[in-house]
Amino acid sequence: MPVDSKILPFRFRCLEPSNLTDALNLCSQSGDQVAILAGGTDLLIKIKRQMVQPEILIGLQRVPELQQIQTNEQGLRLGATVTLSEAEHYPAIQREYSALYEALRSMAAPAIRNMATLGGNLCNASPAADTAPPLLAFDAQLRLQKSGQERLVRLTQFFLGPGSSCLAPGELLTEICLPAPLPDSGSAFLKLGRVSCDIAKVNAATYLQRRGTVCILCRAAVGSVAPTPVRILQVEQLLEGAVVDSNLLRQAAEAGAKAIVPIDDIRSTAKYRRQVCQVILEEVLQAAWIRAGGVL
Ligand SMILES: Cc1cc2nc3c(=O)[nH]c(=O)nc-3n(C[C@H](O)[C@H](O)[C@H](O)COP(=O)(O)OP(=O)(O)OC[C@H]3O[C@@H](n4cnc5c(N)ncnc54)[C@H](O)[C@@H]3O)c2cc1C
Repeated sequence: MPVDSKILPFRFRCLEPSNLTDALNLCSQSGDQVAILAGGTDLLIKIKRQMVQPEILIGLQRVPELQQIQTNEQGLRLGATVTLSEAEHYPAIQREYSALYEALRSMAAPAIRNMATLGGNLCNASPAADTAPPLLAFDAQLRLQKSGQERLVRLTQFFLGPGSSCLAPGELLTEICLPAPLPDSGSAFLKLGRVSCDIAKVNAATYLQRRGTVCILCRAAVGSVAPTPVRILQVEQLLEGAVVDSNLLRQAAEAGAKAIVPIDDIRSTAKYRRQVCQVILEEVLQAAWIRAGGVL
Protein backbone atom coordinates (compact mmCIF):
# COMPACT_ATOMS: atom_id res chain seq x y z
CA MET A 1 0.00 0.00 0.00
CA PRO A 2 1.64 3.33 -1.04
CA VAL A 3 2.20 5.60 1.94
CA ASP A 4 3.55 9.11 2.40
CA SER A 5 5.46 8.54 5.63
CA LYS A 6 9.05 9.33 6.52
CA ILE A 7 9.96 5.70 5.92
CA LEU A 8 11.81 4.57 2.83
CA PRO A 9 10.08 1.22 2.42
CA PHE A 10 12.79 -0.90 0.78
CA ARG A 11 16.56 -1.24 0.59
CA PHE A 12 18.66 0.26 -2.17
CA ARG A 13 22.33 1.00 -2.72
CA CYS A 14 23.45 4.58 -3.13
CA LEU A 15 26.57 5.24 -5.22
CA GLU A 16 28.19 8.64 -4.97
CA PRO A 17 30.65 9.32 -7.79
CA SER A 18 33.09 12.17 -7.13
CA ASN A 19 33.53 13.37 -10.71
CA LEU A 20 31.51 13.59 -13.93
CA THR A 21 33.39 10.86 -15.81
CA ASP A 22 32.68 8.35 -13.04
CA ALA A 23 29.04 9.47 -12.85
CA LEU A 24 28.57 9.00 -16.61
CA ASN A 25 30.31 5.61 -16.54
CA LEU A 26 28.13 4.42 -13.67
CA CYS A 27 24.97 5.60 -15.46
CA SER A 28 25.89 3.80 -18.68
CA GLN A 29 26.86 0.55 -16.93
CA SER A 30 23.78 0.35 -14.73
CA GLY A 31 20.59 -1.33 -15.87
CA ASP A 32 16.90 -0.47 -15.53
CA GLN A 33 16.76 -0.54 -11.74
CA VAL A 34 18.72 2.69 -11.36
CA ALA A 35 17.58 6.20 -10.50
CA ILE A 36 19.53 9.45 -10.53
CA LEU A 37 19.41 11.30 -7.22
CA ALA A 38 20.02 15.06 -7.24
CA GLY A 39 18.33 16.89 -4.32
CA GLY A 40 15.82 14.07 -3.84
CA THR A 41 12.85 16.39 -3.23
CA ASP A 42 10.83 14.71 -5.99
CA LEU A 43 12.50 11.31 -6.16
CA LEU A 44 12.44 10.43 -2.45
CA ILE A 45 8.72 11.18 -2.30
CA LYS A 46 8.15 8.81 -5.22
CA ILE A 47 10.23 6.15 -3.43
CA LYS A 48 8.29 6.62 -0.18
CA ARG A 49 5.03 6.27 -2.07
CA GLN A 50 6.44 3.22 -3.89
CA MET A 51 5.79 4.84 -7.25
CA VAL A 52 9.35 3.81 -8.18
CA GLN A 53 11.51 1.08 -6.64
CA PRO A 54 15.11 1.52 -7.79
CA GLU A 55 17.74 -0.93 -6.57
CA ILE A 56 20.56 1.57 -7.04
CA LEU A 57 20.61 5.35 -6.66
CA ILE A 58 23.39 7.31 -8.34
CA GLY A 59 23.81 10.46 -6.27
CA LEU A 60 25.10 13.55 -8.05
CA GLN A 61 25.75 15.70 -4.97
CA ARG A 62 29.51 15.09 -4.95
CA VAL A 63 30.14 15.83 -8.63
CA PRO A 64 31.83 19.26 -8.70
CA GLU A 65 31.46 19.71 -12.49
CA LEU A 66 27.66 19.80 -12.06
CA GLN A 67 27.74 22.52 -9.40
CA GLN A 68 29.31 25.33 -11.47
CA ILE A 69 27.69 28.61 -12.47
CA GLN A 70 29.51 30.55 -15.20
CA THR A 71 28.73 33.79 -17.02
CA ASN A 72 30.48 35.15 -20.09
CA GLU A 73 29.54 37.15 -23.21
CA GLN A 74 27.63 34.12 -24.55
CA GLY A 75 25.34 34.03 -21.51
CA LEU A 76 24.86 31.95 -18.41
CA ARG A 77 25.74 28.27 -17.84
CA LEU A 78 24.24 26.53 -14.85
CA GLY A 79 25.38 23.09 -13.75
CA ALA A 80 22.52 20.62 -13.35
CA THR A 81 22.91 20.29 -9.58
CA VAL A 82 23.01 24.02 -8.86
CA THR A 83 20.38 24.33 -6.16
CA LEU A 84 17.36 26.58 -6.44
CA SER A 85 18.81 28.67 -3.56
CA GLU A 86 22.21 29.04 -5.21
CA ALA A 87 20.56 30.19 -8.45
CA GLU A 88 18.22 32.53 -6.58
CA HIS A 89 21.18 34.25 -4.87
CA TYR A 90 23.36 34.51 -7.98
CA PRO A 91 23.70 38.22 -8.85
CA ALA A 92 23.50 37.81 -12.67
CA ILE A 93 20.20 35.91 -12.30
CA GLN A 94 18.77 38.58 -10.01
CA ARG A 95 19.95 41.34 -12.36
CA GLU A 96 19.41 39.96 -15.86
CA TYR A 97 17.08 36.97 -15.76
CA SER A 98 14.16 38.41 -13.75
CA ALA A 99 11.67 35.77 -14.86
CA LEU A 100 13.90 32.94 -13.60
CA TYR A 101 14.63 34.80 -10.36
CA GLU A 102 10.90 35.32 -9.75
CA ALA A 103 10.18 31.66 -10.48
CA LEU A 104 12.87 30.51 -8.03
CA ARG A 105 11.54 32.84 -5.32
CA SER A 106 8.05 31.40 -5.80
CA MET A 107 9.09 27.78 -5.28
CA ALA A 108 8.57 25.76 -2.10
CA ALA A 109 10.18 26.98 1.14
CA PRO A 110 13.89 27.80 1.65
CA ALA A 111 14.56 24.36 3.20
CA ILE A 112 13.43 22.65 -0.02
CA ARG A 113 15.14 25.26 -2.21
CA ASN A 114 18.42 24.50 -0.41
CA MET A 115 18.20 20.84 -1.50
CA ALA A 116 16.28 20.94 -4.81
CA THR A 117 18.24 21.41 -8.02
CA LEU A 118 17.51 23.09 -11.34
CA GLY A 119 18.29 19.87 -13.21
CA GLY A 120 15.91 17.90 -10.97
CA ASN A 121 13.10 20.36 -11.61
CA LEU A 122 13.48 19.88 -15.39
CA CYS A 123 14.19 16.12 -15.41
CA ASN A 124 11.18 15.43 -13.20
CA ALA A 125 9.25 16.80 -16.21
CA SER A 126 6.21 17.99 -14.29
CA PRO A 127 3.81 20.12 -16.37
CA ALA A 128 3.86 22.50 -13.36
CA ALA A 129 7.67 22.80 -13.01
CA ASP A 130 8.21 26.45 -12.17
CA THR A 131 11.64 26.88 -13.75
CA ALA A 132 10.33 25.60 -17.10
CA PRO A 133 8.35 28.66 -18.33
CA PRO A 134 11.18 31.16 -17.70
CA LEU A 135 13.77 28.81 -19.18
CA LEU A 136 11.52 28.31 -22.23
CA ALA A 137 11.10 32.08 -22.50
CA PHE A 138 14.90 32.53 -22.43
CA ASP A 139 15.21 29.77 -25.07
CA ALA A 140 17.47 27.66 -22.85
CA GLN A 141 19.49 24.77 -24.22
CA LEU A 142 20.30 21.66 -22.23
CA ARG A 143 23.59 19.75 -22.38
CA LEU A 144 22.81 16.03 -22.19
CA GLN A 145 25.72 13.66 -21.71
CA LYS A 146 26.19 9.94 -21.88
CA SER A 147 29.52 8.17 -21.52
CA GLY A 148 31.57 9.46 -24.50
CA GLN A 149 28.63 11.32 -26.10
CA GLU A 150 27.16 14.77 -25.73
CA ARG A 151 24.24 16.66 -27.33
CA LEU A 152 22.65 20.07 -26.94
CA VAL A 153 18.85 20.06 -26.91
CA ARG A 154 16.60 23.09 -26.87
CA LEU A 155 14.27 23.04 -23.89
CA THR A 156 11.34 23.25 -26.35
CA GLN A 157 12.32 19.71 -27.50
CA PHE A 158 13.02 18.25 -24.04
CA PHE A 159 9.60 17.58 -22.51
CA LEU A 160 7.57 14.75 -24.02
CA GLY A 161 4.68 14.40 -21.56
CA PRO A 162 3.91 14.35 -17.84
CA GLY A 163 7.00 12.84 -16.15
CA SER A 164 8.61 12.10 -19.50
CA SER A 165 11.54 13.77 -21.27
CA CYS A 166 13.85 13.02 -24.19
CA LEU A 167 16.63 11.83 -21.83
CA ALA A 168 17.89 8.49 -23.13
CA PRO A 169 18.71 5.60 -20.74
CA GLY A 170 22.06 6.31 -19.07
CA GLU A 171 21.98 9.97 -20.11
CA LEU A 172 22.44 12.84 -17.66
CA LEU A 173 21.42 16.46 -17.89
CA THR A 174 24.71 18.18 -17.09
CA GLU A 175 24.20 21.87 -17.90
CA ILE A 176 21.53 24.47 -18.64
CA CYS A 177 22.70 27.21 -21.04
CA LEU A 178 20.94 30.58 -21.32
CA PRO A 179 21.81 33.14 -23.99
CA ALA A 180 23.00 36.58 -22.84
CA PRO A 181 20.16 39.06 -22.41
CA LEU A 182 19.54 41.27 -25.46
CA PRO A 183 19.57 45.08 -25.24
CA ASP A 184 16.22 46.68 -24.38
CA SER A 185 14.77 43.38 -23.22
CA GLY A 186 12.80 42.43 -20.13
CA SER A 187 11.22 39.34 -18.62
CA ALA A 188 8.72 38.40 -15.92
CA PHE A 189 7.20 35.32 -14.24
CA LEU A 190 4.00 34.85 -12.26
CA LYS A 191 2.25 31.85 -10.82
CA LEU A 192 -0.96 31.13 -9.08
CA GLY A 193 -0.95 28.34 -6.51
CA ARG A 194 -3.33 27.31 -3.75
CA VAL A 195 -1.11 29.12 -1.24
CA SER A 196 2.15 30.97 -1.82
CA CYS A 197 5.13 28.69 -2.62
CA ASP A 198 2.74 25.88 -3.60
CA ILE A 199 2.79 23.88 -6.85
CA ALA A 200 1.31 26.03 -9.62
CA LYS A 201 -2.30 25.87 -10.78
CA VAL A 202 -0.98 28.00 -13.65
CA ASN A 203 2.40 29.66 -14.19
CA ALA A 204 3.62 31.92 -17.00
CA ALA A 205 6.77 33.71 -18.14
CA THR A 206 7.53 36.14 -20.95
CA TYR A 207 10.64 37.64 -22.49
CA LEU A 208 10.28 40.70 -24.73
CA GLN A 209 12.70 42.85 -26.69
CA ARG A 210 11.76 46.38 -27.74
CA ARG A 211 12.84 48.83 -30.44
CA GLY A 212 11.13 52.10 -29.61
CA THR A 213 7.45 51.29 -29.27
CA VAL A 214 7.70 48.08 -31.34
CA CYS A 215 8.11 44.61 -29.90
CA ILE A 216 10.82 42.93 -31.97
CA LEU A 217 11.03 39.66 -30.03
CA CYS A 218 8.50 37.89 -27.84
CA ARG A 219 8.65 34.53 -26.13
CA ALA A 220 5.80 33.46 -23.90
CA ALA A 221 5.54 30.17 -22.02
CA VAL A 222 3.06 28.65 -19.60
CA GLY A 223 2.86 25.66 -17.31
CA SER A 224 0.14 23.48 -15.76
CA VAL A 225 -2.15 24.00 -18.75
CA ALA A 226 -1.01 21.15 -21.02
CA PRO A 227 0.82 17.80 -20.67
CA THR A 228 4.12 19.70 -20.72
CA PRO A 229 5.20 23.31 -20.13
CA VAL A 230 4.71 25.04 -23.51
CA ARG A 231 5.53 28.14 -25.54
CA ILE A 232 2.43 29.99 -26.79
CA LEU A 233 3.16 30.95 -30.37
CA GLN A 234 -0.18 32.77 -30.75
CA VAL A 235 0.98 35.36 -28.21
CA GLU A 236 4.42 35.66 -29.77
CA GLN A 237 3.08 36.11 -33.32
CA LEU A 238 0.61 38.79 -32.27
CA LEU A 239 3.26 40.88 -30.57
CA GLU A 240 6.33 40.52 -32.77
CA GLY A 241 6.57 43.49 -35.14
CA ALA A 242 3.63 45.31 -33.53
CA VAL A 243 3.45 48.68 -31.79
CA VAL A 244 2.75 47.77 -28.17
CA ASP A 245 0.05 49.30 -26.01
CA SER A 246 -2.14 47.99 -23.19
CA ASN A 247 -4.90 46.91 -25.58
CA LEU A 248 -2.53 44.79 -27.63
CA LEU A 249 -1.14 43.08 -24.53
CA ARG A 250 -4.71 42.28 -23.41
CA GLN A 251 -5.54 40.85 -26.87
CA ALA A 252 -2.35 38.75 -26.79
CA ALA A 253 -3.23 37.37 -23.36
CA GLU A 254 -6.74 36.51 -24.61
CA ALA A 255 -5.24 34.72 -27.62
CA GLY A 256 -2.90 32.83 -25.28
CA ALA A 257 -5.74 31.70 -23.02
CA LYS A 258 -7.67 30.43 -26.07
CA ALA A 259 -4.67 28.49 -27.32
CA ILE A 260 -4.06 26.38 -24.20
CA VAL A 261 -5.62 22.98 -23.44
CA PRO A 262 -5.94 22.80 -19.64
CA ILE A 263 -7.52 19.89 -17.77
CA ASP A 264 -9.55 19.48 -14.57
CA ASP A 265 -7.48 17.97 -11.75
CA ILE A 266 -7.16 18.10 -7.96
CA ARG A 267 -5.63 21.57 -8.08
CA SER A 268 -8.07 23.34 -10.38
CA THR A 269 -10.69 23.16 -13.09
CA ALA A 270 -9.84 23.69 -16.74
CA LYS A 271 -12.20 26.69 -16.89
CA TYR A 272 -10.54 28.39 -13.95
CA ARG A 273 -7.07 27.70 -15.36
CA ARG A 274 -8.01 29.31 -18.68
CA GLN A 275 -9.31 32.44 -16.95
CA VAL A 276 -6.31 32.74 -14.66
CA CYS A 277 -3.93 32.07 -17.52
CA GLN A 278 -5.29 35.11 -19.34
CA VAL A 279 -4.89 37.33 -16.27
CA ILE A 280 -1.34 36.29 -15.42
CA LEU A 281 -0.26 36.35 -19.07
CA GLU A 282 -1.42 39.94 -19.37
CA GLU A 283 0.44 40.83 -16.16
CA VAL A 284 3.72 39.22 -17.20
CA LEU A 285 3.52 40.84 -20.64
CA GLN A 286 3.03 44.25 -19.03
CA ALA A 287 5.86 43.71 -16.52
CA ALA A 288 8.30 42.43 -19.15
CA TRP A 289 7.49 45.34 -21.50
CA ILE A 290 8.05 47.91 -18.76
CA ARG A 291 11.30 46.19 -17.71
CA ALA A 292 12.41 46.38 -21.35
CA GLY A 293 12.02 50.16 -21.04
CA GLY A 294 8.65 50.32 -22.77
CA VAL A 295 5.81 52.60 -21.73
CA LEU A 296 2.15 51.63 -21.38
C1 LIG B 1 7.32 20.58 -0.18
C2 LIG B 1 7.68 20.67 -1.66
C3 LIG B 1 7.37 21.82 -2.35
C4 LIG B 1 7.66 21.92 -3.71
N1 LIG B 1 7.34 23.09 -4.37
C5 LIG B 1 7.62 23.19 -5.69
C6 LIG B 1 7.27 24.38 -6.41
O1 LIG B 1 6.74 25.37 -5.85
N2 LIG B 1 7.52 24.40 -7.75
C7 LIG B 1 8.10 23.36 -8.41
O2 LIG B 1 8.30 23.45 -9.61
N3 LIG B 1 8.46 22.23 -7.75
C8 LIG B 1 8.23 22.12 -6.42
N4 LIG B 1 8.57 20.96 -5.75
C9 LIG B 1 9.18 19.85 -6.49
C10 LIG B 1 10.74 19.74 -6.37
O3 LIG B 1 11.23 20.37 -5.21
C11 LIG B 1 11.44 20.34 -7.59
O4 LIG B 1 10.95 19.74 -8.77
C12 LIG B 1 12.96 20.19 -7.51
O5 LIG B 1 13.59 21.16 -8.30
C13 LIG B 1 13.46 18.80 -7.90
O6 LIG B 1 14.88 18.82 -7.82
P1 LIG B 1 15.67 17.68 -7.04
O7 LIG B 1 17.12 18.02 -7.18
O8 LIG B 1 15.18 17.51 -5.66
O9 LIG B 1 15.30 16.43 -7.94
P2 LIG B 1 15.31 14.87 -7.57
O10 LIG B 1 14.16 14.52 -6.73
O11 LIG B 1 16.67 14.44 -7.08
O12 LIG B 1 15.12 14.28 -9.05
C14 LIG B 1 13.93 14.50 -9.78
C15 LIG B 1 13.93 13.62 -11.03
O13 LIG B 1 14.91 14.06 -11.97
C16 LIG B 1 15.90 13.06 -12.19
N5 LIG B 1 17.17 13.80 -12.27
C17 LIG B 1 17.59 14.73 -11.36
N6 LIG B 1 18.73 15.30 -11.81
C18 LIG B 1 19.02 14.73 -12.99
C19 LIG B 1 20.08 14.92 -13.94
N7 LIG B 1 21.04 15.84 -13.76
N8 LIG B 1 20.09 14.17 -15.08
C20 LIG B 1 19.10 13.25 -15.28
N9 LIG B 1 18.07 13.02 -14.43
C21 LIG B 1 18.03 13.76 -13.29
C22 LIG B 1 15.79 12.09 -11.02
O14 LIG B 1 16.20 10.79 -11.36
C23 LIG B 1 14.29 12.16 -10.73
O15 LIG B 1 13.59 11.35 -11.62
C24 LIG B 1 8.30 20.84 -4.38
C25 LIG B 1 8.63 19.68 -3.66
C26 LIG B 1 8.33 19.59 -2.32
C27 LIG B 1 8.72 18.34 -1.57
